Amino acid sequence: MINLVLFGPPGSGKGTQSEKLIEKYGLTHFSTGDILRDEISGKTDLGMKARAYMDCGELVPDKDVIAMVIKNLDKHQGSKGFIFDGFPRTKAQARFLRHELTDRDMRINLMIALNVEREELITRILKRGENSGRPDDERSVIEKRIEVYHKQSAPIIEFYKMMHKFISVDGKGGIEDIFKRICDTIERSIA
Ligand code: AMP
Repeated sequence: MINLVLFGPPGSGKGTQSEKLIEKYGLTHFSTGDILRDEISGKTDLGMKARAYMDCGELVPDKDVIAMVIKNLDKHQGSKGFIFDGFPRTKAQARFLRHELTDRDMRINLMIALNVEREELITRILKRGENSGRPDDERSVIEKRIEVYHKQSAPIIEFYKMMHKFISVDGKGGIEDIFKRICDTIERSIA
């Protein structure tokens, strides 16, 4: 079983690279952003609450995200492993994930952080926003999401560094080149 955290600021390519990794390694995609967007489409209480945070680029409160993750993790029993995309995003979430996985005799093998410069992130998300229909793919919200990433999410890098599980990968260039770098990293670190 391989469990990966794919980490990086918004627009760093986590979603795109997750899709390719799932195909190659047969893993289950676990994107809290996707789950939250499904909750919004389903007009659930959580969706209605989360929307207010997501539309302005803030993080949904830990207690709501954690309750949602508990509900969704066990839907995938028997999976060959997970790619956590957009989760964990805070220290509390990182500690919670370690605890939940330990209870299930699982662990994170590696956190792979995609490294992309700020201007490139903004350009990529604005381009995605032309078709994504996501209200948060708009310049002022993108800038807020990048700021939130640096303040609230980037500190969890230390958590994975301390466990010798952190690797940064150059996220610039073509999709296939980045994918090759990620796969080489996985095979060097886990095989
Ligand atoms: P994403 O699709 O991962 O870019 O997430 C879109 C938005 O959903 C974020 O800007 C947050 O508002 C919210 N979100 C997604 N995952 C989390 C999480 N792990 N913790 C808190 N908020 C989240």
